[in-house]
Amino acid sequence: MPTLEHLRREVWKANREIFRSGLVTVHAGNASGIDRKRGLVLIKPSGVDYDSLRPADLVVTDLDGRKVKGRYKPSVDLPHHLYLYRHCPEVGGVIHTHSNYATAFALLGRAIPAYLTAIADEFGDGIPCAPYVDNQGDHIGEAILKHKTRAPAVLLAHHGAFTFGETPRDALKAAVMLEDVAKTCFLALLLGKPEPLAAEEARKWYDRYHSTYGQEK
Ligand SMILES: [Zn+2]
Repeated sequence: MPTLEHLRREVWKANREIFRSGLVTVHAGNASGIDRKRGLVLIKPSGVDYDSLRPADLVVTDLDGRKVKGRYKPSVDLPHHLYLYRHCPEVGGVIHTHSNYATAFALLGRAIPAYLTAIADEFGDGIPCAPYVDNQGDHIGEAILKHKTRAPAVLLAHHGAFTFGETPRDALKAAVMLEDVAKTCFLALLLGKPEPLAAEEARKWYDRYHSTYGQEK
């Protein structure tokens, strides 16, 4: 069983990489991971700049949000991460960003259809967008769950994006790929009117990517 310190390193890396990849600025956004065996979540502390963030700064909480370890307060988005962990047993890592291109679609309340094979690969039929919700209680968590598909990302209108995966690294990959495809689609929409791939075509790309792509584990 991986140790909590291993997960701490993974969650710290995910936070560092969303900053390095330009998906977040200063201290906005956050990445978390869960240790299911121990029932513990590690998340970025609230308002701490990424460029000074150390692994030891991450906050450890239980699934009810009670702090178990750490000198800082956890991210204010902790309840949304916890909601996903409580309701989606397959999720092991969650990332929240306001990355520019993905959030441009979110601002307009627009889902991103499977315009590109790269979208079909990672996200299947496209990236859904939930209508605007406020930051109270479980509203964000509920909106994400209501609009969640097999895609590892949901846009939130007027707000940003949540991505998730089996591990913090998977959630990071989804966050980076989301912004990459959103940028391409944004540019194409400036040039003309792209057509989404037919559902049958999108399925072929998704199936190949989720069966034979990459190296054996
Ligand atoms: Zn936000």
